[in-house]
Amino acid sequence: MTAQYAVFGQPVSHSKSPFIHRAFAAQRSETLTYERIGPAEEDFEEAVRTFFAEGGKGANVTLPFKERAYAMCDVRTERAEVAQAVNTLWMEGDQLHGDNTDGPGMLADMVRHNNWKILNKRVLVLGAGGAVRGVLNCIFDAGVKEVVVANRTLSRAEELAQHFSERGDITAVPMEDLAAQESFDLIINGTAASLAGADLELPVSLLATGVYCYDMMYAAKPSPFLQWASDHGASTSDGLGMLVEQAAESFYRWHGWRPGTVSVIQALREEVSLV
Ligand code: NDP
Repeated sequence: MTAQYAVFGQPVSHSKSPFIHRAFAAQRSETLTYERIGPAEEDFEEAVRTFFAEGGKGANVTLPFKERAYAMCDVRTERAEVAQAVNTLWMEGDQLHGDNTDGPGMLADMVRHNNWKILNKRVLVLGAGGAVRGVLNCIFDAGVKEVVVANRTLSRAEELAQHFSERGDITAVPMEDLAAQESFDLIINGTAASLAGADLELPVSLLATGVYCYDMMYAAKPSPFLQWASDHGASTSDGLGMLVEQAAESFYRWHGWRPGTVSVIQALREEVSLV
């Protein structure tokens, strides 16, 4: 029997989404079926269509399919339109709808769980991949003063700066030129460098007094970026709260009620620390 909900990705076996969505449903003593689906590269669209044709109610989408999910949708939310990537799918009538909840997820984690004040801040964003594209709109919505994007491949940062130029003050710089920058109030690491345990070798001069440093990745141990930041007195957070909050936003889309997130973050934190 087809599950009611699913996450599509490749690889997907590591995904915490089934755990998170079941935990949300349990808050109202409800149960739901939620599975991981890892289609072959060429089979993604067909797998999504089959899932909904067989009664699937909602799907999450993760790497590397978010842009293809966007392309499939008949109707998209404004933030999905801006991000040109979709992580949440559902059907209304015979139309496939798509949303991108990564941005609200990250912002909720920063503001509600970490109590960070983002208004009027000077922000450095490291990376220019899908995750950064998904959150930039929300960063501007939060009222930041300016955004500088730095990426290993400069052209991708330049493309993003161009894409979001109507949203506010945004510039692209090469990673090698960061030492020439004035300090930042908020630094977001949206690179996959942490996954590889790679050190970004950032100059300490980037850190303003009271700086917040956020890594979208989460793991049992602080990433080299977060370790570096806390060694120099920054407030830090990894992306576990973002993961749960983006899921909560998807859940709200599908079920019409907002689940509590604190207990789910705590439960996942305990699980992650055992890995
Ligand atoms: P992409 O593959 O789309 O982009 C990867 C980015 O990382 C690119 O900017 C790439 O630079 C850069 N990069 C990769 N390796 C290195 C390195 N060794 N040194 C410097 N830069 C590097 O991935 P995503 O944008 O989807 O994901 C990025 C991170 O965000 C991942 O760690 C992912 O786990 C996390 N994430 C977390 C979420 C959450 O809910 N917490 C949600 C989504 C993502 P280049 O352009 O030069 O290749």
